[in-house]
Amino acid sequence: MTIEQRRILKTAIPGPISAELMARKQAAVAAGVGTTLPVFAVAADGGVVVDADGNQLIDLGSGIAVTTVGARAPRVVDAVKAQVDAFTHTCFMITPYEGYVAVAEALNRLTPGDHEKRTALFNSGAEAVENAVKIARAYTGRQAVVVFDHAYHGRTNLTLAMTAKNQPYKRGFGPFAAEVYRAPVSYPYRDGGLDGATAAARALDIIEKQVGGTEVAAVVIEPIQGEGGFVEPAPGFLPALAEWCRANGAVFVADEVQSGFARTGDMFASNHEGVVPDLVATAKGIAGGLPLSAVTGRAEIMDAPQVGGLGGTYGGNPLACAAALAAIETIEADGLVARARQIEELIKPRLLLAQKEDDRIGDVRGRGAMIAVELVQPGTSEPAPELAKAVATACHQQGIIVLTCGTYGNVLRFLPPLTITDDLLIEALEIVIASLREIS
Ligand SMILES: *Cc1c(COP(=O)(O)O)cnc(C)c1O
Repeated sequence: MTIEQRRILKTAIPGPISAELMARKQAAVAAGVGTTLPVFAVAADGGVVVDADGNQLIDLGSGIAVTTVGARAPRVVDAVKAQVDAFTHTCFMITPYEGYVAVAEALNRLTPGDHEKRTALFNSGAEAVENAVKIARAYTGRQAVVVFDHAYHGRTNLTLAMTAKNQPYKRGFGPFAAEVYRAPVSYPYRDGGLDGATAAARALDIIEKQVGGTEVAAVVIEPIQGEGGFVEPAPGFLPALAEWCRANGAVFVADEVQSGFARTGDMFASNHEGVVPDLVATAKGIAGGLPLSAVTGRAEIMDAPQVGGLGGTYGGNPLACAAALAAIETIEADGLVARARQIEELIKPRLLLAQKEDDRIGDVRGRGAMIAVELVQPGTSEPAPELAKAVATACHQQGIIVLTCGTYGNVLRFLPPLTITDDLLIEALEIVIASLREIS
């Protein structure tokens, strides 16, 4: 590691240099682009982010589940340096290069199922989800897209239509793309603990009545919801949806943008239930911090769009492909899938113990290094967003990068890089738990 793996506070958060940079940001950057912490980063490695004032913060966010292998994983750094020396861009649609093909081969190998697959590369998660919908429509000749309550699929016009939450994502930005339909998800903490089969029957009844089985091009779902609050559906929910898609000729799309690449203690969250999606959208953890995304799936579905129907100037950029191959090698060679499970064993028991003594912790859930606590009014299930915000702010001031999420804004989420040390992780969690205890 290039940075000592230790939390160091040299100034208040933010320090004077960050405060000055924040003033420049306010004068130069569009107000709609918010920041979670008021500090500017100058370096990051392992579980530590260094700010402009020399403070060392413990990273429980990984830049929203992106730097799963760390923010400067040695293999990624070397691979990108070598590629930048060779060439930065030719456009894969003009003169292709091997890196793109190698990433496609790796994704075809790693994603669930051993059927014949194809992959197309893009730049962002939203772009991958949009392309999954394009491909499903081209294959089925149908238009309707089914999504779920609490879903997050991105910020482009189509993916905003698919995203559930109004404020801050959608408000003022309509009209949104047509032919997007929303069904209730399985959310055990908030649906009375419906079992997976019953929750699926409820959703499928709405889909059949309001959309019609013959109209559905794609059912798109996050196997564990990200921005919506790390909602883990009851066992059986995802398999029932996948089965319904098979029976009705619809394409089952797993949005694994946040849950993919070892994050949940398996290479993909779909694997926990043995679900084999027709298409998988990936991004975030795919390339060690470089912008890359992909759609991978059944060859006959992926090959449905006409030649020239898929692509984009930067899609599968050579630097991003080099980074992705190095990130995948790091996950496999360093056993990071198993490391994500260890991280779950470090985080969950501590949060469950805290829950025993604090009836404001309504729910502890998630898998691997994707764990959340849902905060509520004492002894009820009424969301407590102010409490989540207060705890997060108190943590930020103590040098812990912790993020909130959830439709009600009342969820604290933990997404550490898988390369964080046990000591740093435990220190950060203890600060989170102590901060919650201190706020009455
Ligand atoms: C972040 C996210 C997206 C959007 O990805 P961007 O790269 O921000 O466009 C889509 N789906 C899920 C599940 C996500 O977490």
